[in-house]
Amino acid sequence: MLTIFWLAIVVVGFFALAYINAAGWAWTLAIAAALAAAALLHLLPPLALLVFGAALLLLAIPLNWPTLRRKLISDALLNGFRKVMPPMSQTEREAIEAGTVWWDGDLFSGRPDWAKLLAVPQPKLTAAEQYFLDHDCEEVCAMVTEWETMHVHRDLPPQVWQFIKDRGFLGMIIPKEYGGLGFSAFAHSEVVAKLASRCGALVVTVMVPNSLGPGELLVHYGTDEQKRYFLPRLAKGLEIPCFALTSPMAGSDAAAMPDRGIVCMGEFEGRQTLGLRVTWDKRYITLGPVATLLGLAFRALDPDHLLGDKVDLGITCAMIPTRHPGVNIGRRHMPLTAVFQNGPNSGDDVFIPMQWIIGGQPMIGRGWRMLMECLAAGRAISLPSTNTGMAKLLTRAVGGYARVRSQFKTPIGKFEGIEEPLARMGGYLYSMDATRVLTAGAVDLGEKPAVLSAIAKYHITERGRQIANDAMDIAGGKGICMGPSNFIAAAYTQVPISITVEGANILTRSLIIFGQGAIRCHPYVLKEIAAANDGDATRASITFDAALFAHVRFVLSNMARAFVMGLCGSHCAQVPAGVAPETRRYYQQLTRFSSALAFLSDVSMGVLGGALKRKEKLSARLGDILSMLYVCSATLKRYEAEGRQAADAPLMHWAVWDAMYKAQNAFEGVISNFPNRIVAFVLRRMVFPLGRPYMVPSDQAGHEVARLLIEPSATRDRLTAGIYLPHGESDAIGAIELALAATLAAEAVEAKVRAAIKAGTLVTQAGEDRPAAALAAAIITADELALVRRAAHLAEIVVRVDDFEQDLGAAASRSEIAMPRPATITHKAAA
Ligand SMILES: Cc1cc2nc3c(=O)[nH]c(=O)nc-3n(C[C@H](O)[C@H](O)[C@H](O)COP(=O)(O)OP(=O)(O)OC[C@H]3O[C@@H](n4cnc5c(N)ncnc54)[C@H](O)[C@@H]3O)c2cc1C
Repeated sequence: MLTIFWLAIVVVGFFALAYINAAGWAWTLAIAAALAAAALLHLLPPLALLVFGAALLLLAIPLNWPTLRRKLISDALLNGFRKVMPPMSQTEREAIEAGTVWWDGDLFSGRPDWAKLLAVPQPKLTAAEQYFLDHDCEEVCAMVTEWETMHVHRDLPPQVWQFIKDRGFLGMIIPKEYGGLGFSAFAHSEVVAKLASRCGALVVTVMVPNSLGPGELLVHYGTDEQKRYFLPRLAKGLEIPCFALTSPMAGSDAAAMPDRGIVCMGEFEGRQTLGLRVTWDKRYITLGPVATLLGLAFRALDPDHLLGDKVDLGITCAMIPTRHPGVNIGRRHMPLTAVFQNGPNSGDDVFIPMQWIIGGQPMIGRGWRMLMECLAAGRAISLPSTNTGMAKLLTRAVGGYARVRSQFKTPIGKFEGIEEPLARMGGYLYSMDATRVLTAGAVDLGEKPAVLSAIAKYHITERGRQIANDAMDIAGGKGICMGPSNFIAAAYTQVPISITVEGANILTRSLIIFGQGAIRCHPYVLKEIAAANDGDATRASITFDAALFAHVRFVLSNMARAFVMGLCGSHCAQVPAGVAPETRRYYQQLTRFSSALAFLSDVSMGVLGGALKRKEKLSARLGDILSMLYVCSATLKRYEAEGRQAADAPLMHWAVWDAMYKAQNAFEGVISNFPNRIVAFVLRRMVFPLGRPYMVPSDQAGHEVARLLIEPSATRDRLTAGIYLPHGESDAIGAIELALAATLAAEAVEAKVRAAIKAGTLVTQAGEDRPAAALAAAIITADELALVRRAAHLAEIVVRVDDFEQDLGAAASRSEIAMPRPATITHKAAA
């Protein structure tokens, strides 16, 4: 009995020491104490005590004596690690090293410091930024409609192009000293979200010059001369930039581009000049067809050693005026129904002088690192903001539509079947906007959040796609028939573009989020890899040893924490001081998931090693867990930052439950598919010792969220804040806004009429105009009748769909000039 008690204490002691990540000396003392107790109480036979004592001595040395430990253990392990470490290309290394680690590091640590997250200041707009949103953005939104850009101009109208150039929309990220607006990342994000709520071509045309491209690259890496000349021109729209990275044969694997620049002497402005002869073939380049300044990525080669010993100098970025002889540019692609300018460009042996390299000659070969660093910040803003803006508009408009549109004498938004997609739209949107704001805020704090921006890009665009699908399903035929009164079709058809660009989503989920996150955010792995690559043997040995033993304790600690928190339903996890009582349990549960993720990641990397890179399905699920922890963090932060609005609580609860359920499924997906079944067995016991506790958000939670979307309220306004809301019934969105208010006003009058009929004070015949009869019977007033009539009039506008002449205008456009001619057909005809 005493032995069992002793054993129980040993097991509890083991978990307690591991849980608190105890130092080596604490482990030594604890083991010594356990053995001493066993000896004193005669719990173990003398031989066993002797064996355990010797083992303790052997263990105490490595635990407490680093110099000896290195010689006996770490150096041998370092050599082994060097042999099994998967090879890493230069571009992979640059991608992993690019950017900074922020809250993702905490989520990967198993002990997120929630107080730190909650103390992060909420991003704010300056007066000038707010003015720009309230005036310039409102004005430009009023100048365009989706339908006209898509079907009349097939581009932005000329006056809109001029307006965005004159008002500085193309230079939001260019500092004021160079004539730009010098906006914060948050203000930039707010502008993009607002424009996205109005017109796809407008937002993309503004977004691209403010994203990865000549402007941003020049701000960070340009020479003083380049900055002085080009930045003011870009800021005022005197130059239209584009950036060409993607080649026909190198899409996601852009670093494999075949485009080449050979260092050579050539004639430029009548003089022999050092430069490069560049040959390239690019496609999908946004703004390319109208660009005046082509940012181009290619691989620089120096076969004649004009610059030094190296032949392959690496990926390089240059700016080429598109009027330069030899640049072929101007033709367009047709990306789904979108009409922003996008097309191919090419050049064959085009000579460019060295001063056209961004940053000049010293930056030759530094292009990939430049791109990765800028991508980390740009990816945090452009697509997350676009999709959030689009989702806000759809959620607001479809919520209104679902109240105005009745079937079976009931507003469709009140059917349980419709409540389900409505709840998803509301819950997703709340967390999307929270994630957008937190990530843009991180950029304003000076972070280049490589992993978090990938998470924001992937999850916000995927949620945007789901919201577009839900909106379409709820609207039925209204969403399908194209025309000026269809407010869904453009977003629905164009959302795949967001999925594909700036890192196609499948690749981002399968390879980048966890692949980069595990190495970049892990407290020890990058240090171990750096040590393995270090040429200085002593330094490598010391660094590797320190990282390795801290790593071992880290794994044990996270295993114990995941298990203990799993056993006690996370009640033992710390809660940050002063958080809303209704969110306390979420912090505890997320801390548990953080420890479990850290443990599962380490076991996966340890057991699968380099093979984990190819096990993309496992890697994707591990990335999903990290992503859901980030989405929950942003959601809880938003709830606090907005003053714990009680009316918004259903949105917060739905979003957190949904994300935790998804994280649980991702854990389950990794464990069920883990190749080593014994390890999988242990993993399951450690991560879910009492089974899987999380469920999908309840029907009641969904009902509460759906109700918030189908009537005007401060919550609905906060959820969809910052979008462009047109006024008047001649605009599809304006009509819904008016119709929703009118419907609610009329509902009260209709209830009065129904009550009178039920009470027998009003008798009507089938098909009779009941409101008119109610007026005649003095049950309602003339004003009330007017309310009912106005609601019916507006509802009729809202449900109306467009129709066209029988040939859809084909005869009018059936001419050589009006028909776009694909290059493939032109070539065939010429042959
Ligand atoms: C409208 C539009 C605008 C664009 N604008 C620009 C621009 O301005 N400048 C520019 O340089 N480029 C631009 N692009 C290019 C864009 O960045 C690429 O389309 C993108 O990188 C994907 O390349 P791809 O289309 O060739 O697809 P592919 O690389 O052929 O990928 C096909 C599929 O395979 C998946 N995949 C690839 N590798 C992996 C992997 N290892 N694991 C799992 N899945 C993988 C991808 O996720 C994708 O689903 C634009 C593209 C479009 C469509």
